[in-house]
Amino acid sequence: MHGEVVRAVKESKRSRRSRFLRDAMVDVQIAGRGIRSRRVLLAMRQVPREIFLDRRFAEAAYEDSAVPIPKGQTISQPYIVARMLEAAAIAKSDRVLEIGAGSGYLAALAAKLGREVCALERHEALVQRARSRLRHLGCRNVDLRQGDGTAGWPDGGEFDVIVVSAAGAQIPAALKAQLAPSGRLLIPLGDPDDVQWLTKLTRGPEGRFVEDRIEEVRFVPLVSAGSRGSRDDGRP
Ligand code: SAH
Repeated sequence: MHGEVVRAVKESKRSRRSRFLRDAMVDVQIAGRGIRSRRVLLAMRQVPREIFLDRRFAEAAYEDSAVPIPKGQTISQPYIVARMLEAAAIAKSDRVLEIGAGSGYLAALAAKLGREVCALERHEALVQRARSRLRHLGCRNVDLRQGDGTAGWPDGGEFDVIVVSAAGAQIPAALKAQLAPSGRLLIPLGDPDDVQWLTKLTRGPEGRFVEDRIEEVRFVPLVSAGSRGSRDDGRP
């Protein structure tokens, strides 16, 4: 009994501290740098980032940086996640596809903003971890699968928003084909070993594509079945 009370007190202290750090992160790193979307700011105040990290990195959860996750990958910097989500302008009724779900953090945020999130991750070990974390958060509108995202979502269909969380030299044709009219696709474009341009591709209602550069970023490489990323061992 005593043990349970001690555990409950520790847990409540931990969750208060987590909320405090999260609010500070949003105020300073996110809103403080010009992110205005109220829905994005609210989602970031709600989703605890530390549960997406291994215990030894949990202390770094609210730092202003990407943090290592297994398989040589990283959970993206919170500000860049916010920038991508704001640019994607996810409406409540939107279907979202994420390529490169990694820890599952961005998918958890997108799930708060949209109706449904489909997510692909090439490393099975990361899929397993992300799934159990999303379940722990009670996130029921995410369908996370192992697979090569450069080939698009296997069941087909169109998405209002596609977020590619890894850097490619160009936009995979299969993803352009799965972008709905008026849809938005975000992808870091450029040399995977250098800085890339976070790029927004908008599909006009009549189907024409318009490309805009948003800002310089540095992401891990988008690795397709036929390629080998220099910072990725190539094996799923
Ligand atoms: N949004 C993630 C970022 C993870 S890093 C997060 O919040 O944690 C990018 C991820 O893309 C890595 O886990 C990597 O394994 C994955 N990836 C790279 N190429 C991929 C591909 N072709 N298909 C699916 N996932 C891919």
